[in-house]
This record gives sequence, C-alpha cells and structure tokens, in this order.
Amino acid sequence: MKSPREPDLELRGRLIRSLGSLREMLPGSFVERKRACGRPNCHCADGKRLHSQFQISVLIDGKPKALNIPAGLAEKVRQKIEMRRRFDAAATTICSVNLKRLIKEKEERQV
Ligand SMILES: [Zn+2]
Repeated sequence: MKSPREPDLELRGRLIRSLGSLREMLPGSFVERKRACGRPNCHCADGKRLHSQFQISVLIDGKPKALNIPAGLAEKVRQKIEMRRRFDAAATTICSVNLKRLIKEKEERQV
C-alpha cells in the first residue's frame, strides 16, 4: 500500500535518482575565446575568421587556473560542466524539500 501522495517526496526521489547520470560532472566555467594564431597566411589573418580556443576556468588547489581544452573534447567538457549546474540545482531543491519537512515536524511537536 502506498501512503497518501507526497509530491515533495516524489520530487526528491526523482531528483536523487537523476544524480547518477551526472557523475561525470566537472567544476568551473566553460569559455570560448577567439584568437588569431599569428601565421600571416592563415585565414585568421583577416581578423574575422578567428580560431576558437576552448578553456575551462577552475580552481586547482584553491588557485584559479585556465585549462586549455582540445577542440575535440570541447563539447563533451561543456556538457559535463552543465551537469554540475544541474547537480547544484537538484541539491538546492532537495534541501528546500527537507527544510520544509523539518519546519513541519517542528510545528507538529509544538502541538
Ligand atoms: Zn590562424
């Protein structure tokens, strides 16, 4: 027998179960820079068709670093950083569900 529907608990369960799919998440923020390589014959010499340089800004041992990301990995890395955002959003929602439940439990004890 299922107890009366508790939408908050269903939401919490759904979020918890979704976290496994975010296990490849990465920290930091993803940056795409445009740059010229400096070779005079390259298409980038016109100053318009520049090269993309992908980087992630992260803290390594507490210090801010920019890591260059090879173009072939850029999309994958971008998605993994996006996973971190979804993880944080899920954690925020789970915490607010739990906080609501704590406040309710506290009130019930005061009766
Ligand atoms: Zn170039």
